[in-house]
Amino acid sequence: MRRRQALYLSPAAETMLGYPLREILRRPRLLVRTVHEEDRARVHAARKSAASGGYDETYRVVRPDGTIRWVRDHAFPVRDACGAVYRIAGIAEDITERKLAEERLLHLAHYDVLTDLPNRVLFYDRLRQAILQARRNEWIVGVMLIDVDRFKNVNDTLGRAVCARLLQQVSARLKAAVRAGDTVGRLGGDEFAIVLSNLASARDGNLVAQKVMASFHDPFRPGAGAEIYVTASIGITLFPDDSTDQDTLIQNADAAMYQAKDAGRNSYRFYTPEMNARASRLLSMESSLRRALERREFLLHYQPKVSVATGGIVGLEALLRWRHPEHGLVPPGDFMPVLEETGLITQIGEWVLGMVCAQLRQWQHEGIDPVAVAINLSARQFADRDLGAVIQRTLEAHDIAPRLVEFEITESSLMTNTEDSTRVLEFLANLGVGLSIDDFGTGYSSLGYLKRFALDALKIDRSFVRDITESADDATITRAVISMAHSLGLKVIAEGVETAAQLAFLAEHGCDEFQGYYFSRPLPAAECGERLPRRRSGDPGRPRPRPRRPRRSPERAAAGCARVPG
Ligand code: C2E
Ligand code: MG
Ligand code: MG
Repeated sequence: MRRRQALYLSPAAETMLGYPLREILRRPRLLVRTVHEEDRARVHAARKSAASGGYDETYRVVRPDGTIRWVRDHAFPVRDACGAVYRIAGIAEDITERKLAEERLLHLAHYDVLTDLPNRVLFYDRLRQAILQARRNEWIVGVMLIDVDRFKNVNDTLGRAVCARLLQQVSARLKAAVRAGDTVGRLGGDEFAIVLSNLASARDGNLVAQKVMASFHDPFRPGAGAEIYVTASIGITLFPDDSTDQDTLIQNADAAMYQAKDAGRNSYRFYTPEMNARASRLLSMESSLRRALERREFLLHYQPKVSVATGGIVGLEALLRWRHPEHGLVPPGDFMPVLEETGLITQIGEWVLGMVCAQLRQWQHEGIDPVAVAINLSARQFADRDLGAVIQRTLEAHDIAPRLVEFEITESSLMTNTEDSTRVLEFLANLGVGLSIDDFGTGYSSLGYLKRFALDALKIDRSFVRDITESADDATITRAVISMAHSLGLKVIAEGVETAAQLAFLAEHGCDEFQGYYFSRPLPAAECGERLPRRRSGDPGRPRPRPRRPRRSPERAAAGCARVPG
């Protein structure tokens, strides 16, 4: 066979290969030498067979300065009149840019843009690989789901940019908490997952979970001067003990994670088979809740609000109860999330309002001096555009003076959509109903922020009141909240007062009202009625006006009123 010789190279080859044309023509072996060593054998084989049918290869070349270019090399034999090959012709194209774009696309398809962690697709793939490998080697694989606690609150309060950085910092900490061979992925939102590819024992899973929890210990600093503490709830399941199927493993970890949330968050749980039973219980709870209203299984209990100064009942809070035919009286914490999630809360919220109005009417008929009744509104109800109209209509239908009704809104639902929130609150304020912030201190809002809303009162969350006499921090916070709320013209109500010492502390620091087992648990309507003061004979029974803080300017109030459908 004749020796091969390079006959012609286009000038573009010079830029592509990084050698002067003359040199390549003089040293044809350079065409082989420049091919990346990992691709060289393949390219060499293709070129050897070029005379028989040509080739089409994509490979890398390494230029003398060390940079790498991607080349698509397409060659074919050229034959003379008798069909004998006398030359190989070809076109080599520099496709580096296209290749990089492809790689970027591939990366985008498999990695989360925000955190650069494997996304759901790649995570599942890694889990599949880990399971295959574990089957061969009889290893244990751990699957861990991690959900940031109350992330929605953070998001609503601090805004998206800060939250994005928070998620990036969380992902960095998670990566640092596990071994290099483990995969940390982001499944979406604030949900992360980890494949622990080779655990020596179930105990190892425990250790990793503790490490992950510990990585949330220090505050995050996601910018804008914010320093926030967040915690996480973690669910863990093990291959092959709990399941050998990857979808089931993810479901298990999810059930375990919810169990950790239910246990008060900031904790981890290993999957147990009973957890699935719980998931199916939740499903059946949903269908029973759908029927509970028509079956008249809901009722209201009322808890007194007491004046710190006089010790007299100055108001009530209506608290929803569900009398389940088999499970008895179910507290709202057990079913409220299901009502919220399914949207049933809207319908049941309207029932609560109607029920409170009817109860107020009945007390009036019984000669009881009515006090204002507070009704809790959940985030979902508060976001409902018809809320104002429904409230106005119901009050009118029962002929109830608006000042006899108050609404309690949690901090986080207020922050969800401040523009709309302001409008709805102004509408309600103009209607004349009372408004307070519930569970204050559990969200992330500053008191100054509350200035923009037309509010009457602020309820200090039970978690602060609980330790008021033991924890210097809680005492300081409570004192500060009371004095700042007063400076904003807001009344302060302490929730969950259980002891005389707590009440004494609150009295000393000027808290206006309190609620709690110390005075009374929530009571059935009839029992509660007995504790309310009776009207003196001759008293016409009109409700006493509740002192209100000054409202905003009439123009603003009217504008707010006009915009909400009434
Ligand atoms: P919340 O509005 O903060 O109600 C206070 C909760 O603290 C009530 O729990 C009450 O029974 C409990 N509590 C009162 N005093 C004490 C005390 O001294 N010690 C302790 N440990 N607890 C005390 P409950 O009735 O289980 O209600 C839980 C939550 O469910 C309420 O929290 C409220 O957010 C929600 N909720 C209740 N009824 C309704 C309703 O009709 N609609 C809506 N949307 N939410 C409701
Ligand atoms: Mg409340
Ligand atoms: Mg509360």
